[in-house]
Amino acid sequence: MPPSVVISPKGEQRARAGHPWIYRTDVVDARAEGGEIVQVLGSRHRTVGYALFSDRSQIAIRMLTHGETPADAPLLRARIEHAIGFRDRLALDVSAFRLVNGEADLLPSLVVDRYGDYLVVQTLSQGMDRLLPEITNMLAETAAPAGILARNDPKVRALEGLDQTVEVLHGAVPESVVVREGPIEYDVDVRRGQKTGLFLDQRENKEAAARYARGRLLDCFSYHGGFALRLAGQCQHVEAIDVSADAVAHIRANAKRNNLHLEAREANVFDELRRLERAGEHYDTIVLDPPAFAKNKASLSNARAGYKEINLRAMRLLSPGGFLVTCSCSYHVSEAMFAEMLHEASVDSRTPVSLVEKRMQGRDHPVLVGVPETHYLKCFILRRVE
Ligand code: SAH
Repeated sequence: MPPSVVISPKGEQRARAGHPWIYRTDVVDARAEGGEIVQVLGSRHRTVGYALFSDRSQIAIRMLTHGETPADAPLLRARIEHAIGFRDRLALDVSAFRLVNGEADLLPSLVVDRYGDYLVVQTLSQGMDRLLPEITNMLAETAAPAGILARNDPKVRALEGLDQTVEVLHGAVPESVVVREGPIEYDVDVRRGQKTGLFLDQRENKEAAARYARGRLLDCFSYHGGFALRLAGQCQHVEAIDVSADAVAHIRANAKRNNLHLEAREANVFDELRRLERAGEHYDTIVLDPPAFAKNKASLSNARAGYKEINLRAMRLLSPGGFLVTCSCSYHVSEAMFAEMLHEASVDSRTPVSLVEKRMQGRDHPVLVGVPETHYLKCFILRRVE
């Protein structure tokens, strides 16, 4: 008997609506080991499709196919090829970008980022992790990288009962990789940097911000200088803030590498915005790109208060006609909730702002329609009207 899982009518309905995740509560019977590809059965034992099965996570099933289509090696290979083909067609002016974006490329829980000649892979479920050797071979053949690194240290792997590992799977991967994003070069530590090294999802928002940025710029939550470096060429004075000393060292090193002048400070943005307000400072351009304040639904109300606090203070610091580029990367904070929070911040700070652009993560990180979890990044560009 091939491994199989029977799901409830509710789970079946969800799968038919195109959502790849079926929760444990909708699993009626499982005859499979964690990590196996299973046949998913619905009412009257009809085949709903084939999926990755986890015996640990709340997300018990990640659908790979619907109906009788088997989830085999040729299918995985074709999906990887399509994902790569799509990025080729985007013709991005960069040497670092996302090659495979999990669910949105119908390869749930698989992330592949390209950094120059190297690939960085993450397998974030038991099933995808078990397929890692096969996927590594497919990537080596289809993308011809000089090296492939498994950056399998995200915390979500613990929910799957998977260990935290960082290892070279193919070829060789150097300690640091120099990549280019438009006009800016970065030195990336793919083993230790956040995510897989850089926040590749913000590339197009930086480009958008470059349409407005000018004068005095304050880049809050700067990490390795992403927004500050991209906008520095067109601003008179640039300040970048991050709470991490290591991040600040990277901002300075990246500024030097690109021959750009900026001031990088180690500080807590919450304190710093208050201090700048007391000091009567004003900026023409402010960027807010905090980490995900809402890691789960329970922390949503605190998270919302945090977002409101920094946005309200940033609005007060803006000079009339100035621009605020404000982001949230929590998928629990919907676009509508984010807009409502910004409205409140505008009312409470008595700052009339207009919405100039409503954006999301870059096109190499597409959203799977019907799966709100894949629309995590919101980026609004606001203008202080007077
Ligand atoms: N804007 C960056 C990515 C930001 S990631 C880019 O485009 O590349 C979020 C950053 O916020 C991390 O570097 C983290 O160190 C920093 N951070 C988290 N909490 C902070 C706080 N309270 N004050 C300042 N920085 C903070």
